[in-house]
Amino acid sequence: MPEGDTIRRLAERISQRFAGQRCLRCVTRDPRLVGVDFAGTALLGAASFGKHLLIRFDDHRTLHAHLLMTGSWIVGPAPTEPEWRRRVELWLEDGRLTGLDVPILGVVPTTAEADLIGHLGPDLCAPEPPDIDEIVARIERVPEAPLAGALLDQRNAAGFGNIYAVELPFIVGVSPNQATGTIAGLGALIAIGAALIRVNAARGPQNTTGRKLATADHWVYSRRGRPCPICATRLEGWSDQQSPWHRVSTWCPACQPIEPMRSVDLDRARRLLALHPARRDPTFPA
Ligand SMILES: [Zn+2]
Repeated sequence: MPEGDTIRRLAERISQRFAGQRCLRCVTRDPRLVGVDFAGTALLGAASFGKHLLIRFDDHRTLHAHLLMTGSWIVGPAPTEPEWRRRVELWLEDGRLTGLDVPILGVVPTTAEADLIGHLGPDLCAPEPPDIDEIVARIERVPEAPLAGALLDQRNAAGFGNIYAVELPFIVGVSPNQATGTIAGLGALIAIGAALIRVNAARGPQNTTGRKLATADHWVYSRRGRPCPICATRLEGWSDQQSPWHRVSTWCPACQPIEPMRSVDLDRARRLLALHPARRDPTFPA
């Protein structure tokens, strides 16, 4: 599942490769794009807001895409995938831009982009750091929401996906199932998450441990039933059908017990992220 950091990097790759280039040919295979043709226009660049991708053209139109769980883009080479999977194909002066299996696609006037993204919380991967207080205030509107659900709710903050909704609670020692109204230190929690996703957006690939080994990119994500990497207790979890927010989840019952009031453990977060460059990001709590 692409999260905000991945979409940010994708937007930058599209801009670096194609900004200023004319579209020579355009083929769409999506019912929502019937009659749409970008041939003859120039691609100005691509931007991201949360998990939304916005590709802008010089005729004041924006191609909007959201990848959900299935979509992807090929930036540059000609695709080898069957044509029916290529929902949109643009031939640009220096290569091909292809949207594969993209579930949400549309074209809007560039001036109407706010209609698509205006309801979202601050963009975690925007060039300027997000307003942490605003994100906390948005989360506090629904104090009974479980932490993971609040992190995934893009109206609170735009960009976190399920990997962060699992990893961030583990890093700070709070259960993903703990109600947000019973968590002390939400601001620090969000600041750590923002530092992680921003550094990963700038550096990639997505990594929440700071370790170089590909096998240790994540602490507990998709490791349900295996020993906790900190205390060796058997990790618990939910399938996407079991969890109230309909996504797989994993947590350590010893490191992340549910309590009437639970504090974010900053010392634990600093220890776990000692090797991660997010520790040195200005967003990381001092
Ligand atoms: Zn543990």
